[in-house]
Amino acid sequence: AKAQGKSSYRRFSPEMKELSLERLQMESRLRRALELNEMELYYQPILQAADSHLIGAEALIRWNNPAMGLVSPDRFIPLAEETGMIIPIGRWVLNAACQANKRWEEATGQCLSIAVNVSPRQFRDPGFVEMVQQALSENGIPAKRLELEITERLILDNTIETAQILKRLDEMGVRLSVDDFGTGFSALGYLKSYPFDTLKIDKSFVRDVMTEQEDAALVKAIINMAHSLSLEVIAEGVEDSDQLQFLREQGCDFAQGYFYSRPAPEADFLLWVAGHQQ
Ligand code: C2E
Ligand code: CA
Ligand code: CA
Ligand code: CA
Repeated sequence: AKAQGKSSYRRFSPEMKELSLERLQMESRLRRALELNEMELYYQPILQAADSHLIGAEALIRWNNPAMGLVSPDRFIPLAEETGMIIPIGRWVLNAACQANKRWEEATGQCLSIAVNVSPRQFRDPGFVEMVQQALSENGIPAKRLELEITERLILDNTIETAQILKRLDEMGVRLSVDDFGTGFSALGYLKSYPFDTLKIDKSFVRDVMTEQEDAALVKAIINMAHSLSLEVIAEGVEDSDQLQFLREQGCDFAQGYFYSRPAPEADFLLWVAGHQQ
């Protein structure tokens, strides 16, 4: 504490300057990313754990900027949230995901589900529910085929509005899942009062399930709790067959991860689907 004189945090260090310049630059690039067509959705298959039957995919955004290369969402989604750009970006994601889902139906003859990530600010935007409704109807997608993934973080600051929006989405028939389940330090009470359908066990628990007793116990407990509340469970971040075997033994419903496929551009995803079904 002694070393932290006033000057040490007030001074604008070269690192901070660089950081904020970088941020400003990224922000201005992000503002133009949609109109310049730099955003793309990747898709990662979600399968039934028991028999590896394909049920759908999660859409994961990628930003392809000429100057920065392929930027991962962990780098720009927080910035998009802070600046409000997540509203147009989120709208683009939902529309692009629904359009893709329609194309898959034509390409594969199957009705796969599509999971879309929703960030807190986007969720609270007054036009959100109507926007979802519109994306579905414009693309002729039944509501039950869309799964919205909402982070536990959002549910944590639970407000009347959160409850109402969830209720409206549920009544529409959209499926709702809790993303990053187990990482939010939230009370579990919300699970019984909110209309969720699915818990997504965070990949940080799945990662060490074969080596860490505690992680194995947590995963087991989450699956059992979810099932006794009539919720389904998706394990994300499944990277090898031992993890999958463990999840099967615990009765986990769905699995997603590099073991099956990395998130991939649409064309590659469809190739994977064709190969998987042979
Ligand atoms: P998430 O929703 O928890 O997505 C899962 C992340 O785990 C993805 O990272 C995915 O590529 C990665 N992953 C999948 N399988 C494995 C595996 O077997 N092992 C490991 N180590 N990782 C795996 P990604 O695509 O970089 O996305 C990061 C986060 O960015 C997402 O975490 C999500 O919170 C956010 N995000 C992505 N797309 C969107 C979007 O369209 N809208 C919003 N609001 N957020 C998004
Ligand atoms: Ca997700
Ligand atoms: Ca529901
Ligand atoms: Ca996660």
